[in-house]
Amino acid sequence: MNGKWEVVIGLEVHTQLATNSKIFSGASTAYGAAPNTQACLVDLGYPGVLPVLNAEVVRMAVKFGLAVNAKVASRSIFARKNYFYPDLPKGYQISQYELPIVGHGELFILDDNGNEKRIGITRAHLEEDAGKSVHEGFGEHSGIDLNRAGTPLLEIVSEPDMRSAREAVAYMRKIHTIVRYLEVSDGNMQEGSFRCDANVSVRPRGQKELGTRAELKNLNSFRFVEKAINFEIDRQIALIEDGGEVVQETRLYDSDKDETRPMRSKEEANDYRYFPDPDLLPVEIDDSFIEAVRKTLPELPDAKQQRFTNQYGLKTADAEILTASRAVSDYFEQVAEATTAGPQVAANWVIGDLSALLNKEGIEIKSSKIGAGALAGLLDRIADTTISGKIAKDVFESMWTGEGSADEIIAAKGLTQITDTSALESVVDAVIAANPEQVAEFRAGKGKLLGFFVGQVMKETGGKANPGQVNRIIKQKLG
Ligand code: ADP
Ligand code: MG
Repeated sequence: MNGKWEVVIGLEVHTQLATNSKIFSGASTAYGAAPNTQACLVDLGYPGVLPVLNAEVVRMAVKFGLAVNAKVASRSIFARKNYFYPDLPKGYQISQYELPIVGHGELFILDDNGNEKRIGITRAHLEEDAGKSVHEGFGEHSGIDLNRAGTPLLEIVSEPDMRSAREAVAYMRKIHTIVRYLEVSDGNMQEGSFRCDANVSVRPRGQKELGTRAELKNLNSFRFVEKAINFEIDRQIALIEDGGEVVQETRLYDSDKDETRPMRSKEEANDYRYFPDPDLLPVEIDDSFIEAVRKTLPELPDAKQQRFTNQYGLKTADAEILTASRAVSDYFEQVAEATTAGPQVAANWVIGDLSALLNKEGIEIKSSKIGAGALAGLLDRIADTTISGKIAKDVFESMWTGEGSADEIIAAKGLTQITDTSALESVVDAVIAANPEQVAEFRAGKGKLLGFFVGQVMKETGGKANPGQVNRIIKQKLG
């Protein structure tokens, strides 16, 4: 990238809290219902109805605050953010402005050089989501679906601490991992439960003041975040180098064209005429509530990653992959505890063969067709040399398609590894006798042919010969 310019990025992540009912009404938050079947009078903005705060969203916001080492406000207030849009029948969104529920916090990512980097969290506040305009199927009109109106959101605002699109994605992934660990959000990006606005600016390297930023709205995949930011960086640098100026505005990313386009000029906070919502009491949180929530915190991803490297001796990269989701880390631990093959072998199989199959079939690890105990049973047979690693892959596929346990499949298909030295020796002898030319070349110094001989023995034995022993016997006989 252009060495003269420094990139500055701050993210506003919107995560939908996983409550059953909405933030200020009893209507369901379940996804995918027929339009307007889950919007009650409060969500529809009827006059005279009153919002009632859902206690569960407070608990979830506090849980998040504690997980990112933030100060939880003993008193926070809801404010009205006034604007007109068809999907917002009240004419204002209930949000938090001056006193958010979560204050300064932090989390850690790996920067572009692979070093740990702290990203500051400015605040996290509660707010309600708006409805959604539907443009298809209504001729020249648009429809409004208010099922989503009033869905609880936690908006998490970062400091402008990221210095590349890659760092921004690492930060967003970290938030995503944390909210799922905490079970405060399902993080489902296809359903819009997790999305972000990216604020992007550039400045000459060494300059202290921030450059003018553009805000890229509503990015709902990690790939789009990265692409939109990179497009925007190039656009801003080219603009400035051409003698132009970046204007502060809101832009939309078009993934089909891979470009950002202006949406509206940036509104200032005072355009919204924020004021405390007179219909809602301040949220008062005491220490005993905070301590009670703290007791419900699970082991967090960074701590778990550290433990995986210490306790199981895993490589950092592997520990990071395995702890990206709680379900994956639980599965791994069950395999590692149950097998005699050792934790690194368990890690290799979970990250490699198992993940590949899950991805291919679009299945979550919770619904894996091979349970942790069953996989451990397979790895045990590699560890005790009943089968080779290569045969194990075939057994694994058979287990996946429901042919039985590792032991049953090994027995039924006669896959037990041949480790009997005299049996292996006679196969090697036969291979040597059948390939005099290769034997001569090997003896003349063409060491690469070792693989050829091993391959021939494997072919003769249907892959069942113990590869280590075969190697040794061939070298011995030809050496
Ligand atoms: P607003 O309320 O208008 O969206 P904020 O001041 O709350 O603006 O900032 C929103 C986000 O923009 C924050 O994540 C912040 O870190 C980031 N941000 C602010 N100024 C800049 C800048 N010049 N360049 C990049 N990001 C910025
Ligand atoms: Mg904003």
